[in-house]
Amino acid sequence: EELYRIQGWGEPYFSINAAGHITVSPKGDRGGSLDLFELVTALKLRNLGLPLLIRFSDILEDRIERLNAAFGRAIARYNYPGTYRGVFPVKCNQQRHLVESLVKFGKPHQFGLEAGSKPELMIALATLDTPGALLICNGYKDREYIETAILAQRLGQTPIIVLEQVEEVALAIAAGRKLGIQPILGVRAKLSAKGIGRWGSSAGDRAKFGLTIPEILHAVEQLKAADMLGSLQLLHFHIGSQISSINVVKDAIREASQIYVELAQLGADMKYIDVGGGLGVDYDGSKTNFYASKNYNMQNYANDVVAEIKETCAERNLPVPTIVSESGRAIASHQSVLVFDVLGTSEPPSETPEPAREDEHLIIRNLYDTYSAITAENYQEAYHDATQFKEEAVSLFGFGYVSLTERARAERLYWACCEKILEVARQQDYVPDDLEDLEKIMASIYYINLSVFQSAPDSWAIDQLFPIMPIHRLNEEPTRRATLADLTCDSDGKIDQFIDLRDVKSVLELHALKSEEPYYLAMFLGGAYQEIMGNLHNLFGDTNAVHISLTPKGYRIEHVVKGDTMHEVLGYVQYDAEDLIENIRQQTEHALQEKRITLAESQLLLQNYERSLSGYTYLSS
Ligand code: PLP
Repeated sequence: EELYRIQGWGEPYFSINAAGHITVSPKGDRGGSLDLFELVTALKLRNLGLPLLIRFSDILEDRIERLNAAFGRAIARYNYPGTYRGVFPVKCNQQRHLVESLVKFGKPHQFGLEAGSKPELMIALATLDTPGALLICNGYKDREYIETAILAQRLGQTPIIVLEQVEEVALAIAAGRKLGIQPILGVRAKLSAKGIGRWGSSAGDRAKFGLTIPEILHAVEQLKAADMLGSLQLLHFHIGSQISSINVVKDAIREASQIYVELAQLGADMKYIDVGGGLGVDYDGSKTNFYASKNYNMQNYANDVVAEIKETCAERNLPVPTIVSESGRAIASHQSVLVFDVLGTSEPPSETPEPAREDEHLIIRNLYDTYSAITAENYQEAYHDATQFKEEAVSLFGFGYVSLTERARAERLYWACCEKILEVARQQDYVPDDLEDLEKIMASIYYINLSVFQSAPDSWAIDQLFPIMPIHRLNEEPTRRATLADLTCDSDGKIDQFIDLRDVKSVLELHALKSEEPYYLAMFLGGAYQEIMGNLHNLFGDTNAVHISLTPKGYRIEHVVKGDTMHEVLGYVQYDAEDLIENIRQQTEHALQEKRITLAESQLLLQNYERSLSGYTYLSS
């Protein structure tokens, strides 16, 4: 448990059971659990191959419950005379089954949806059927977007059009007039409170979205002139995702609350304050303000939001707003677990070298002397010597002074030095910076049946850390330290940063493979943003996905969403499966005529080709 820090990031959903398997408790503390390894085994028997994305609907429900409960407690604690109405930003995970479940689970809390684009508006309008729930309309808008959103009021929905660009003010006024419907408008403010971490630039005067203070004042003038100031009811801000420090949240809310009350005093009919997203996820369990973590919990967040808003309104004697938040990551991350298998490994060379003979090349004797003299006192110096001797051997080889056999011997001696130095270094309290690469150099490589680009794009694009660990054999000591290499033929298709206490480590502790036995790993907390941002690099498509819900007797498979087949991904790049098969058939006919292939071989080739096209893009183990 310590090794993978599962208690830190996994609670209350993931833990390890007596069999050494991961246990999933989808309802959190409210009981019921599943053995993940047994679940995967059972799903494989249903012909659901790996990699497999398992979505636990109960976790989704639990996240919604927790967020609403946290705001409920904060409202009670501060005697806040208003309510909380959360919305889920659809951008975070647009999968239909997930959004539909979310709307269903959110009903008791009038949980709404946020759309960040026209296609997301289409989803939100058709899916949200909860009376009183908000439909927050963000993102770039054209006339059609705005008209559609306004007309949705006639369907009984509560669409709030958030003005994010200066041009949208005039568009909204014109659309409202044309339709004869008073729109409900919000305005997104560019706060000067700074964000933090990877998404910190979402705030600030030069942020991509939102209106500056002068622009907001101008919008108020325009609305007033059009006799529509009563339409302006919401103030929105978003200072970036994964805010790791609570102070940043507090500063932003303080500034936004002031803008809110000023707008109310200018005559807008202010009713809502929308604090955007940003509620962080503790990916490494360290509870620090390191970007993979956060130094606060959901309750601290809700308390600060509620308290700051209440205080500012009380100072101005104004009624408090309904509080809206657009938490995506905090709602969707935990519910999906991506399980994948290891296809093979490549181990670093490991051998005890033969002593150097007097007649061997000087460079070999030097390397052997370095090897035999390694101690706790000189291991750092020994590493530099060994590296230098090895480089010299390579350069002497280039000039023809060292033979191929001698170069091989020099390289093996170098690896032996590295192995011994690493053993000594691991026993020290502190590993010098210049030896950090050694862990990586000496790591095993585990080849995983996965595309990082498809399933963990943020790990490749922005070095996002996700917890990754085996789902079984957890009562066995892992004897290997490994980096992970994916199926793509791209050297960026790897994972070599793993969570560690307050830091990142470059290797993951794993078990040696056993023959005839699969070895399963899982990536956790990837339910937000990863699926939709994943790409088809090397034409590895969507993975298989299942939705699982707990039942009194075990579990139920609610939905199976089969991953892309080869003919589907080839279709995305305009290849037609029939044409491809016909092409191969003609080639086989030609080869038959020229007697380069037998009939049996040609049939086998065609059969394989056709079967592949309708098969999964990943490897079958
Ligand atoms: N709202 C807006 C406007 C966003 O841009 C985002 C994403 O960055 C979110 C909400 C969701 O943020 P998070 O996933 O941090 O909750």
